[in-house]
Amino acid sequence: MAEHNLKASHMAIVLGIGLGVVLLIVISLLLTIVVNRRDRQALLRSRKTPDERLRKLDDVAPTRTLEVWFTSTKGKMNLSDAVDSQFVCVVCLEQVNRTEEIRELRCLHVFHRECLEKWFLGDHFNCPLCHRAYFEADIPPRHDHIWMV
Ligand SMILES: [Zn+2]
Ligand SMILES: [Zn+2]
Repeated sequence: MAEHNLKASHMAIVLGIGLGVVLLIVISLLLTIVVNRRDRQALLRSRKTPDERLRKLDDVAPTRTLEVWFTSTKGKMNLSDAVDSQFVCVVCLEQVNRTEEIRELRCLHVFHRECLEKWFLGDHFNCPLCHRAYFEADIPPRHDHIWMV
């Protein structure tokens, strides 16, 4: 009878260890899943919404109509009226009309507002035409080869 009890308690210990190991594996799996999910959420949260990012673009390339831009720039750049009707947006290769909204970069290149926004939201931080960065060195260039062109 004593031997039987000993066997039973021995089995209980083995069973207990087995259950403990299984429990540990399950817990560590759950922890991994939870940590992964939290990482992904943090990543999503750190990624700014398009609106927030466009506000940053507003600082360097404010939206104006071509007409307003041209009136204020013509004097500065000594452009003749003939140039007025010849602005082409290199993103879509369409002509920019006087009443359309444009964004002008620091390099004085002009693009359709929507075209530059699309370009910018695609993680391009330099001018589509001359590849000059919009911002002062706070965003490192993603494509190094661009600078070798
Ligand atoms: Zn365009
Ligand atoms: Zn440019």
